[in-house]
Amino acid sequence: MVLYFRGHKTAPLQSADEAWPLKYPAFRATEILDRGASFFRTCVLLSIFLASGLDIIGRAEADEAKGIKIVASFYPVYIMAKNVGRDVPGISVLNLTASFSGCPHDYALTTDDMKKLAGAQVFVANGAGMESFLESVATQYPGLKIINTSLGIALIKDEGDRAVVNPHVWVSISDCMAQVKNLGTSVAEIDPVHKELYDRNTADYIAKLEALRLKMQSELAPYSGSKIITFHEAFPYFAREFGFKIVAVVEREPGSQPSAKEMAQTIRLVKDKGITALFSEPQYPSVAAYAIAEETGAKVYVLDPAVSGPDDYDAYINIMENNLAVLKKALAR
Ligand SMILES: [Zn+2]
Repeated sequence: MVLYFRGHKTAPLQSADEAWPLKYPAFRATEILDRGASFFRTCVLLSIFLASGLDIIGRAEADEAKGIKIVASFYPVYIMAKNVGRDVPGISVLNLTASFSGCPHDYALTTDDMKKLAGAQVFVANGAGMESFLESVATQYPGLKIINTSLGIALIKDEGDRAVVNPHVWVSISDCMAQVKNLGTSVAEIDPVHKELYDRNTADYIAKLEALRLKMQSELAPYSGSKIITFHEAFPYFAREFGFKIVAVVEREPGSQPSAKEMAQTIRLVKDKGITALFSEPQYPSVAAYAIAEETGAKVYVLDPAVSGPDDYDAYINIMENNLAVLKKALAR
């Protein structure tokens, strides 16, 4: 194109007519070429524009599809996070200790557990001392936002060691509701794009929990003041909520066997207080519970602290409904 113009650039045009025959083919040629070029340029520009436009849309969609990654420390807080993040576009909610069933009191994280934290933005903890691995998580993933769901809950001091608090807050429906509220508020701050959905999910789940609490309060009211014996330190918050008195915790450490002296003490207590129901847990089958039952005639019932269960939005509610049925049966006089 430039070569074609070379002569005309320097040749002065006498008149338009004179110039025309010279100009004409040139014009024609350049017009075609220019049109071709401008068409080509337009196409290139358009495709660049479209590509960048699509790229922006694509990236937005990818961000949306990628969503936020939330890792919860163990089952009960995982179920809370699942409800709070319900149907949020692109969200992924994982249970860090899914391979483990029970309270992670002294749980040491595996390499596979730690891998789940890669790329996560949020870590949901029960707090109150439940996650002994919290510090190593915070150290290894300094960018991770850690939500302490038990913040603001009136914690109960441990019976044995008054310097520590009992971490089983979620076993109380009211405290579980407080945890869900903390979680919902914090996640909405971290991922404000979906604030409306988090707020709605949080309100919906709290409404379900409130219905459960009212039902349990009313149906357990006749048994308020009942003395109960449990086999793991999981029920003080639950007992506080529904007015039960835990007179003994037979196995302070889950799965640990009480000494002969402790067994004799508990047997005497069951007989003296006229206790007819002993509460074991599905996660920790108790040999001691059956031994005490044998000696005293008390019956063993299974009360579930919701530390394991199905991967289901309503799992916690269903577990508590079942606990309600068990308690009504066990405490009926
Ligand atoms: Zn526990």
